Amino acid sequence: MATNRTKVPRPLARQLFVETGHRCAIPTCRATPLEIAHIVPWHRVQRHDFHNMIVLCPNCHTRFDRGDIDRQAMFRYKELLRLSDPNHVAPDDPSPRAGLIRAYRLFQSEMTRWHKTISTLVSAVKYSSGGFPTGNLKPCRTAASIARAAADKLGNLGDEGVAEAANHIFDWYRSWANDVFDLKPSAFNGTRDDYEDRAQERLMAFVMLHEELCAALDLDPTELDFFEAEKSGLGLPEVPLGTRGLWETEE
Ligand SMILES: [Zn+2]
Repeated sequence: MATNRTKVPRPLARQLFVETGHRCAIPTCRATPLEIAHIVPWHRVQRHDFHNMIVLCPNCHTRFDRGDIDRQAMFRYKELLRLSDPNHVAPDDPSPRAGLIRAYRLFQSEMTRWHKTISTLVSAVKYSSGGFPTGNLKPCRTAASIARAAADKLGNLGDEGVAEAANHIFDWYRSWANDVFDLKPSAFNGTRDDYEDRAQERLMAFVMLHEELCAALDLDPTELDFFEAEKSGLGLPEVPLGTRGLWETEE
């Protein structure tokens, strides 16, 4: 029976490709190139519905059409995709999507580490009675170079917007670290207001990165935890908790 099969709309196709990280949906395959398959065949449903569609490589698609992979199994594969929660990315998930999220978390934790070393240096300078606390300098520099590597990795896996936002955060910290190294009075004797302004600046830089990253992943910013530490209660670089509220829209 001839059917007038309509083209899959681009936004829907993109959503399907992103769902599998632009790889074949069969977890043990993950090959490319890619085709879009209807799980219940098109001639029966006559419509493009996200939940009935899946991205496959030509080989798996042929095996599915032949019945080597049955429909129930294909729905199970679709279900497995749905279960891949961006907030619980497996360390061994090979998809580019998972890689990007892992790079994001690594970046955040390296920035947090760097933040702590700078803070520690500030206190050490303030309370030092015997000259510049050079012992606190090295951890700071080491953390900076690890942070640089984490920013580069994130930038390479993400798009231009992600790279720019990550660099912006890096530059913010570098400028703070330089002020401390140069013993600029403002780095030690700021008022409460200065301190809060800087914390706000820093927060907005992290917010911008979060938004860029979610856009690259085709996620709403509320779908991905801002910081994993929000749940685990680990220390953060003075980024207020409960920041999810930032993206809540008032209905
Ligand atoms: Zn395949």
